Amino acid sequence: MSDNVEYRSRSCYEVFSERVLKEEVESMAREYIQFLSSCKTERETVGWVEEACLNQGRFSQGMGDVFYRKIKEKTIVLVRKGRRPLKEGMRLIGAHLDTPRIDLKQHPLYEECELALAKTHYYGGIRKHQWFSIPLALHGVVVKIDGRKVSISIGESPGDPVVVISDLLPHLARRQNQKKLSDAFEAEKMNVILGSLPEQKEDEKGENKCVKLAILNLLYSRYGIIEEDLYSAELQLVPAGPARYVGLDASLIGGYGQDDRICVFCALRAFFDTPFPEYTQMVVFWDKEEIGSEGATSAQSRVIEYLVEEMIDAWEEKTRPSQVFLNTKAISADVHCAMDPAYQDLHDKLNASLLGYGPVFCKFTGHRGKIGANDATAEYIAFLRALLNGKDIPWQMAELGKVDEGGGGTVAKFLARYGMDVVDLGPPVLGMHSPFEVSSKVDLYATYLSYVEFLR
Ligand code: MN
Ligand code: MN
Repeated sequence: MSDNVEYRSRSCYEVFSERVLKEEVESMAREYIQFLSSCKTERETVGWVEEACLNQGRFSQGMGDVFYRKIKEKTIVLVRKGRRPLKEGMRLIGAHLDTPRIDLKQHPLYEECELALAKTHYYGGIRKHQWFSIPLALHGVVVKIDGRKVSISIGESPGDPVVVISDLLPHLARRQNQKKLSDAFEAEKMNVILGSLPEQKEDEKGENKCVKLAILNLLYSRYGIIEEDLYSAELQLVPAGPARYVGLDASLIGGYGQDDRICVFCALRAFFDTPFPEYTQMVVFWDKEEIGSEGATSAQSRVIEYLVEEMIDAWEEKTRPSQVFLNTKAISADVHCAMDPAYQDLHDKLNASLLGYGPVFCKFTGHRGKIGANDATAEYIAFLRALLNGKDIPWQMAELGKVDEGGGGTVAKFLARYGMDVVDLGPPVLGMHSPFEVSSKVDLYATYLSYVEFLR
């Protein structure tokens, strides 16, 4: 008779020692909050990752034993050569660094009611009502026709002004209140207020106040950009301000973009902390996951294929890329939905994840009958269970809500196309895709540990 025939997942608080909780968990949370506060867009995150790599000092230019490759400033791949030949496969972790947000339209500026405003087009799966009447920061780049790139970040320093999409007051919301939530908040009404200071402009009829012109003049004097330059711009509105500790005990972390920058952070740290690996490591931080992984910087592009071809040329002639990919084991590092205390009825409690219980395996995603899912093999899950149990790292297994309730997808299915083993593994998050997502400090640390074990 075995005395542990029955399974229950374990809380990180019962597994981690006092010392780990006090020191390791806390110091990682501090570092993560800084990272999350300074990386609000995919370009900023790629920049941060690159700088962290350069500070490590071990990264070579070209195809050395440790190197990184950027793709269009929006995706970055880290590679470290293993002791075993490349043809035996890689250990690959893929996460995404794009996050739901509000983009400015290409021709955004106008004025109404003496206010300068900008039209927007949201990016990814947002619940629109969450983005009204909160302070927003404007981030992005504007590329001039001479190729000069102007980076913009307004609204993050305490002294900076912010911008806002103002919401309708309750006193006049009677008709809106009767609408379905999906109809009540119209995307074309998500217009952001940029200013109200008029500029005197002489026209045929005499003097005329112009607030839009004043904003254009301000943009010109501060950044040297003109209205036409906005056609070649990527300007993004994101929640303003830093990430914070949450809860009276400060045990949780709240901030924008934790889906999926929490996995980016854990995978990057794990990569730095696992030199001399057995298998070649590849860590990829993709763009465009939130809009279906289409596009040249997405997980559906062929960039990692090309990179493996280059690695073969440099390290191991005659190996075929298909050999490398077929023998590769991968983790799709993405967050999972934590069981929401207020909406427990939307989860199957036997197959739901809890904050504080470690990273979550999601064997399959998809919706209604596993449609569109990569369903990881039993063999692969057993392999990973053994890996984490061997190091006493807490983990849990869950699926995304009750069957037929909704669903979602990750990059797992795009990696699976190469024939590699892949499964989703990442920490649980509350309020996913909201301007202020909540994660747990201990899950952050446990996720980092699990990626270390995988890459080693
Ligand atoms: Mn995600
Ligand atoms: Mn997402």
